[in-house]
Amino acid sequence: MKKTTGPKFSPSEYHRYLMDNTVPSMHYSGADPVKWQRRLRAKIRELVGAFPDERIPLIPNVLWKKKNPFGSIEKMVITSEKNSDMPMYFCSPKNSSPPYAVMICVQGHSSGMHNSIGLSFGNESKSIHVEGDRDFAIDCMKRGIAALCIEQRSFGERAEHRQKVAGNGCHDAAMHSLALGKTLLGERVFDVDRGIDYLALRGDVDMKRIGVMGDSTGGTISMFSAALLPRISFAVPSCYFCTFRDSIMSIYHCVCNYAPGIIKYAEMSDVMGLFAPKPVVIVAGKTDPIFPISATRSAFCELRKIYKDFGAENNCHLVVGEGGHRFYADKAWRCMLKEFRIQGSPFEINEDTRANCKSQNQRR
Ligand SMILES: [Zn+2]
Repeated sequence: MKKTTGPKFSPSEYHRYLMDNTVPSMHYSGADPVKWQRRLRAKIRELVGAFPDERIPLIPNVLWKKKNPFGSIEKMVITSEKNSDMPMYFCSPKNSSPPYAVMICVQGHSSGMHNSIGLSFGNESKSIHVEGDRDFAIDCMKRGIAALCIEQRSFGERAEHRQKVAGNGCHDAAMHSLALGKTLLGERVFDVDRGIDYLALRGDVDMKRIGVMGDSTGGTISMFSAALLPRISFAVPSCYFCTFRDSIMSIYHCVCNYAPGIIKYAEMSDVMGLFAPKPVVIVAGKTDPIFPISATRSAFCELRKIYKDFGAENNCHLVVGEGGHRFYADKAWRCMLKEFRIQGSPFEINEDTRANCKSQNQRR
């Protein structure tokens, strides 16, 4: 039957048409990967908004310190930039000693960073069960790795209380940031960098073994932080890595996931490719409804080409959980521990785990 075409009233269908006719101008072509990274990194930095010129003193203020079955946790507040303070937890594992490898843990849309340590929001003496393996810092400490949990702008204790906001708490912050020539995404990445400034102050951190991990929007921030911040050496973005086309440009996502103009320049594999050749474990869910697995697999193929051109194909992993939109701690850590090579850790990787990593990559 002949398809009839009526008036084209839909803005979304118009945008789809534009996207279908846009070839990202800085998509990786295989030519001079180092130069390509330099150029694209500068462009992505520009798109997410400039970082503040000045780094003001962090002035860490420790609020409390308490024991945990796997180590100890300190809560503190630092000043990220003028008029923007950030609460954090630093978690020290008891089964390893300084200088610590550290994972920076970022939550997605949720009640905030308290989930990373498995304690209740507003009552940090009460334990809670955290769904979807999102108690990242507990898993880090179990494995002899320290964790820095940062409260991202618009989440948890940094949720907007100034006024009643429509929709979720990101909306006003993200739109106002855009109007100011910035993005909420870029501001969150800057906070991760300030977290690293704090780690450098502590004196008990191995600055060559700093990673970043997070699920969902925590995966977004993990990927962009890995791409833009040179002091990050490991990355575990979960339930985010896909194609822009098949995820945030096709399925409803919060405004905090967008950077102006990015479709004109790069696909998601290009952004993640800025991290090559450093180790990355991409985590995905087979039935994740908002980051379709088929697109994640094809994006991973693109990413692997970039890693291959750096001679680092083995540093690029994809692990796929059997369920939906969540973290898959056991599978992810089996691969990431290989990269961390924690000396003296009871969880140090063995040859079986290496084989698992290999077979997971081959099944992609
Ligand atoms: Zn958001």
